[in-house]
Amino acid sequence: MIGAGLAGLSAAVRLSKAGASVTVHETAKYAGGRCRTFHDQALQSTIDNGTHLLLSGNHEVLDFLHLTGGHSQLVEAERGGLDFLDLASGERWCVDLGTGKGTLSLLKWLFDKSRQPPGLKPLGFLKDVFALKHGRGKTVAACVNTTSELYHKFWQPMTLAVLNAAPQDAAAELIWAVLRETVIKGGAFAKPMYATHGLGTALVDPALKVLAEGGADVHFQRRITALDIEQGRVYCVSFAKAAEVLSVDDAVILAVPHHSVANLVADVKAPTGSRAILNVHYQVRKAVDHPRMTGLVGGQAEWLFQRSNIASVTISGADAWMDKDTDSIAHAVWPEIAKALGEGAEVPAYRVIKERRATFAATPQELHKRPGPQTLCENLYLAGDWTDTGLPATLEGAVKSGRLAAQAVLQSWS
Ligand SMILES: Cc1cc2nc3c(=O)[nH]c(=O)nc-3n(C[C@H](O)[C@H](O)[C@H](O)COP(=O)(O)OP(=O)(O)OC[C@H]3O[C@@H](n4cnc5c(N)ncnc54)[C@H](O)[C@@H]3O)c2cc1C
Repeated sequence: MIGAGLAGLSAAVRLSKAGASVTVHETAKYAGGRCRTFHDQALQSTIDNGTHLLLSGNHEVLDFLHLTGGHSQLVEAERGGLDFLDLASGERWCVDLGTGKGTLSLLKWLFDKSRQPPGLKPLGFLKDVFALKHGRGKTVAACVNTTSELYHKFWQPMTLAVLNAAPQDAAAELIWAVLRETVIKGGAFAKPMYATHGLGTALVDPALKVLAEGGADVHFQRRITALDIEQGRVYCVSFAKAAEVLSVDDAVILAVPHHSVANLVADVKAPTGSRAILNVHYQVRKAVDHPRMTGLVGGQAEWLFQRSNIASVTISGADAWMDKDTDSIAHAVWPEIAKALGEGAEVPAYRVIKERRATFAATPQELHKRPGPQTLCENLYLAGDWTDTGLPATLEGAVKSGRLAAQAVLQSWS
């Protein structure tokens, strides 16, 4: 296995549980990749690199967590839905699809104003959803009514959150894939879920424990520099100062991010464009007992996640922020957060985390560059949120890609 992000861990856990002898090579000092937890000195707290929203319909992630035991570390949102605040007008609302399953539960929600975003008209919403369902090759903005209030208060923030791209850029078929697995199935599948003690405790540590118990070798700070391929097989894996010759039964799963693939294998296509995500974590005065998320519209900040006394702000599609210095970012964002939380004007201790290549660019054009798990090389397989899972670059997509790659390997051995 090359890469110990969620895709690599998902594949490794499944192969290990199936009795395979697994070796993981990870270039970083830690596992988790773009989904990691660490202790931050400035905040004197354990934080995630970026807030990750999971929904109760993310069945790939939930199945994985049941395999590793990590599910006990997840909690559902206290109020069942997602709270929103319009920073410009001060208006607040909650999008709560309830707890039901199936079309009837969705229809009930469509006619209950108290649980909807402002401006939702049932027929308009259904028209938007229908257009997204049939929007292959189009952007989200080309499918939904961009002049409606619902667009500004629902479609725009949801597209940015789920696809890390503005609706004018984002592929409609990816947002439909998420709607199909969550909202369309009913509120029981659209509940926000949070990791009580951070992503690492829920998603990464239990997986590493399963691998250790299964006898897998997990090596950190071990960067793969080349895959030597001859006669349609990877026969040798090279590191900076060493190389490992593979046996005839060995398979390699390449579970690196989209931008690293071309460095290792020439003839595998992968998305080339990337989009950034910015996270600013503040140490605030008022702590919360239960993790909570608030969607913000009408300002620069898009999502506010609170866990204990840390308020974490997410800005998606954040390429324009990447060259700004951290101090000016923290000062530019804080007034909105102070307003949302009723905190003072003075900027508290903060940590800015810039993820320049947080996801591949989820545009209709880039979707054509997503390969499946199999390659032309008979013992080389691909995993990662950028591979063709039919889903956006999310935890759900990464975990699914790992499952598909592991299945392909096991099938080749059967
Ligand atoms: C700030 C941020 C917020 C996000 N928010 C959400 C969210 O709310 N909900 C959601 O579902 N998803 C979210 N995502 C997306 C999610 O984190 C990713 O889709 C997922 O973590 C990708 O996993 P992966 O295993 O495919 O890739 P990665 O996590 O990138 O893992 C690849 C691994 O390969 C390693 N590697 C690279 N090159 C080599 C090499 N040559 N040799 C050995 N190892 C190598 C890397 O170090 C890394 O550990 C967010 C991402 C970011 C960055």
